Amino acid sequence: MSASDLTELDNRVLLICEQNEAGISDAQLSSVLPDVDKSDRVVSINNLLKTGKLSLLQSGKILLYKVKSQSENVPGGDNQEKLLYQIISAAGNKGIWVRDIRYKCNLMLTQVNKILKSLESKNLVKSLKSVSAGKKKLYMLYDLTPDRSVTGGAFYSDQEFESEFVDVLTNQCYRFLQNKAEDAQGQKSDPLTVQNASFASGEDMCHYISALGISKVQLTVDDMEMVLNALIYDGKVEKTLDAQHRSLYRAVTSPVNSVSMAKVPCGVCPVSHECEIGGTISPTTCPYLNDWLQF
Ligand code: SF4
Repeated sequence: MSASDLTELDNRVLLICEQNEAGISDAQLSSVLPDVDKSDRVVSINNLLKTGKLSLLQSGKILLYKVKSQSENVPGGDNQEKLLYQIISAAGNKGIWVRDIRYKCNLMLTQVNKILKSLESKNLVKSLKSVSAGKKKLYMLYDLTPDRSVTGGAFYSDQEFESEFVDVLTNQCYRFLQNKAEDAQGQKSDPLTVQNASFASGEDMCHYISALGISKVQLTVDDMEMVLNALIYDGKVEKTLDAQHRSLYRAVTSPVNSVSMAKVPCGVCPVSHECEIGGTISPTTCPYLNDWLQF
């Protein structure tokens, strides 16, 4: 049996044991798993015993397999330690603040801190800081991979926003789209074909950035779309949806750049209300507008 088949079997065995809270014997297990070889069943049970998911229970002369409760995973721990372990376990990979642990367990802060230290020393839980509140500590089970909301994702390192990395990434994405647009122009096809050929997806961008090797972390399509959306807000990129509702992006070139638009004199002109073509004050004779047009 392959490793993936065995994992699947482990899950099946675990599910059956969970449905038999009082425990299940090997004979009973065998009868509900008629399609599984005895040797595979033994390997799977041993795996689950070794990884602490099952425990053995003596009932008369029969041995029963029983799912371990979460508190049984705290070796040598007293009830308070087991309680805190359960509270932290329930928080999953988003973790839980000390204040919320205290609220749920109703213990003094000094006691909570002492128990947390003990759980940490046994490698049962770990503490980490969240990007959303750098000074507060979050606790979660030791083996869990923290959620993206805790780590901040690929653009954060040690709770710090990697602005230089994001700048490099943004420039590379924009350059990629510009090159794609130039290549599309070079095809000398009709305008619609040229426009369609200048679009790229988040997946395309992901492959390109991965091939460049500029990122130490594995970037996802969501990461790339965050960068591309920032470029949309900068007015450098536009987005459309294809027939499968997939987002596609292309570089756009504005005929007038935003800096020169910000300097247009009419916006702050005190006599703009009197300015009209053919009037005494007119855009055709206005030296300020003329200077701006030469800019
Ligand atoms: S054209 Fe000249 S006068 Fe007219 S609104 Fe603009 S700045 Fe003012």
